[in-house]
Amino acid sequence: MGALASWVVLAVALGQSSAPYVRSRVSPGDDTTQCLYWTQTRVVWQQSTVGNQKVTNHTEFQAITDSFKSWQDVFASCGNLTLAEGPRVDSRTVGYARTGDNINLILFRTRACRDVVDASDACFAADTCANTYDCWDDSAGTIAITLTTYDERTGIVYDSDISFNAASFNFTTGNGGPCGIVSSPGCVDTDVQNTATHEVGHFVGLDHTLATGSTMNPSAPPGEVSKRNIDTGSQSFVCAAYPKGSASKPCFPVPDTGGNGDDDDDGDGCSAAAGGLAALPLLAAASLLARRRRRGAR
Ligand SMILES: [Zn+2]
Repeated sequence: MGALASWVVLAVALGQSSAPYVRSRVSPGDDTTQCLYWTQTRVVWQQSTVGNQKVTNHTEFQAITDSFKSWQDVFASCGNLTLAEGPRVDSRTVGYARTGDNINLILFRTRACRDVVDASDACFAADTCANTYDCWDDSAGTIAITLTTYDERTGIVYDSDISFNAASFNFTTGNGGPCGIVSSPGCVDTDVQNTATHEVGHFVGLDHTLATGSTMNPSAPPGEVSKRNIDTGSQSFVCAAYPKGSASKPCFPVPDTGGNGDDDDDGDGCSAAAGGLAALPLLAAASLLARRRRRGAR
């Protein structure tokens, strides 16, 4: 037992908390389940080499680098984690790779799956269209999705990938005013850094909050850039969950992972399921992927 796919129902409690920060849970929104967190001290993330194929100046790469740097600055001051950018990679595959090199990937999808994949394709039911056809298969109204793979028992994160919906949204990196009917040079439509800074919050284990001014507020109107700056509530999450000089903090004691007393999930028992969630106003919620941990993996 325990080897089958386990679907995580994404009943994220949109609008139900305005705490300074809300940690992501094994079951989203269920405070009786474990929090998600990284235990390693260095997490490498990498951008897809193609960037956003809908633009030509490719300033999106720097905007994403800047988003991670904002978080890294907070970790450097009071956290225990190093977020390091690795070389750009050709991979277009999100999710956790059980074998070989796993990549924490950042990429833009520029085509909607419904536009490029036959409706009868089995990939829709299998939830594999995005990787198979390199397309956006979540809600058209979702700006971006962070897909996180974690151990359901311990909450420990193994992988996190961020996908941007460039099929539906016009991503910009300028510093001008909001784009109007006639867009001016440098105007802001859906800001890359604004979006990425929010998604990196999911990457490190934050859920949404309705706290005023929070980077983790789920809404993001066109023209918004305020989420480029990490609010003090989200900063306090870093200091509390990833305290400098000590181990990362779960929300409950982590169950003993020693070698007895539990049924096993071995071999091909690892399976997972993703649930995309279109957070209502616009910005995406984390899409959380559950993965059963292999016994004896450590
Ligand atoms: Zn979100």
